[in-house]
Amino acid sequence: MNPSWWMAGVPFACQPDCGKCCDEPGGIVYLRPEDAEIMAQHHGLEVADWLQRDCRQTLDGRWVLKSDPVTDICIYLDEQKKCTTYEARPAQCKSYPFWAENVRSDRSWRKTVSECPGLESEEAFIISGDTIRTKIIEDRDASRGFRQWPPKSR
Ligand code: SF4
Repeated sequence: MNPSWWMAGVPFACQPDCGKCCDEPGGIVYLRPEDAEIMAQHHGLEVADWLQRDCRQTLDGRWVLKSDPVTDICIYLDEQKKCTTYEARPAQCKSYPFWAENVRSDRSWRKTVSECPGLESEEAFIISGDTIRTKIIEDRDASRGFRQWPPKSR
């Protein structure tokens, strides 16, 4: 598989009322510092307060969104499977299904296609290679994450 096979563009249209990619117990959403700033502002909180309220740290210290303690699903997904923070959602949520781990092999992409109805939808339109590259980079940045606020590099 050509490592940049997606540069030719990929048909995709996110399906309304689907929510499959969020409705997954055990899913982890890593955050970039700018995601934390946007989310905190959206919720009317200081970043440190928002991190304490709506996030947790993984074993290696990266900040991620909290999950519901009973369902183990993202705390922002409501009962209608709608994202309650959609306008401010983090880059990793926006970049799905074009995550580095999904596009890296035939096998991982076939699995992604089987999980995301937007990739085989009749309404799908071509997402350009440049857009996909941006999404892959944002996903990689998010996976790197940050461990303290404010981040060291700022
Ligand atoms: S699984 Fe695919 S189609 Fe469904 S909400 Fe997620 S990105 Fe959209």
